[in-house]
Amino acid sequence: MAENSKIEWTHHTFNPWWGCAKVSPACDNCYAERDANRFTPNSELWGALASRREFGDKHWNEPLKWNRKAQAEGVRYRVFCASMADVFDKNAPAGARERLFELIKATPHLDWLLLTKRIGNATKMLPPDWADGYSNVWIGISVVNQEEANRDIPKLLALPARIRWLSMEPLLGPVDLTKIAHTASPGFFGDALEWHHRPHGNRDDKWPGIDWVVVGGESGPNARPMHPAWARSLRDQCTAAGVPFLFKQWGEWIAEGVQMPEPLRKALDHDTRRWVADDADDNRYTRTAAAVYRVGKKAAGRLLDGVTHDGYPAMKGGEA
Ligand code: SF4
Repeated sequence: MAENSKIEWTHHTFNPWWGCAKVSPACDNCYAERDANRFTPNSELWGALASRREFGDKHWNEPLKWNRKAQAEGVRYRVFCASMADVFDKNAPAGARERLFELIKATPHLDWLLLTKRIGNATKMLPPDWADGYSNVWIGISVVNQEEANRDIPKLLALPARIRWLSMEPLLGPVDLTKIAHTASPGFFGDALEWHHRPHGNRDDKWPGIDWVVVGGESGPNARPMHPAWARSLRDQCTAAGVPFLFKQWGEWIAEGVQMPEPLRKALDHDTRRWVADDADDNRYTRTAAAVYRVGKKAAGRLLDGVTHDGYPAMKGGEA
């Protein structure tokens, strides 16, 4: 899958600049900040008042190469932007965001997956010719709990975009997407039935909606565990809604009671056991705490109840 990225759902990763500020519980263990401190000590790229560092021309030319390759091969590459910054950061280097959108327009054989934790800034930062969205841009937001879902999904739905998606990683609590009802755009989460009955790949553009959901647990040194009921619930919500679902990873921890290879089950180190409470307020899923074990991201893998979930949205109209 990934060509120059370790992230399962993308072929390439592109960062227009380096630096950011923490704005969500998802940022608590930000690996980009950790890397910045490791590779460029005292660089002071993180924080609301810190300046960001724009990457050089060589780096900016890379997507042009990917685009040529995609065109020659007759395929599309997904490009995740950005893993070490936020496209809608108010502190972006002067002119860099405009340069990014020019680059996106110049690379029609790439699908740009812009992922933000600042969707509230997007409307005023999109380019003047954005219209109903560039055909090769998927706008995604990070959602890690119900509070963020309630606050940010309506903003995403209000934004003109060809593809809208949710990155629910690290998933830190139960999220019921149908609870967005009556706070979002009319016709989608404004009517929970729309979410439940919209057929896969057959979205009516009059009804803006979510086109893709990615779920994952946290990895890294201070990773927080994910209760399996949270992931199962989102899988089932997506299935009911006909929305493609991708289960990216368990992350650092795996829970008792989920399907796992026998050698891993036998090797579970009980000294690492912790309990994760599930405070979901519906009773379709167990509300009991789950025992989780620290096994590492690789060993934990990405099977959810024995199944690899690798859903992706269909490009509407097959546009290039
Ligand atoms: S938005 Fe992303 S890059 Fe910025 S601090 Fe949070 S996790 Fe790190």
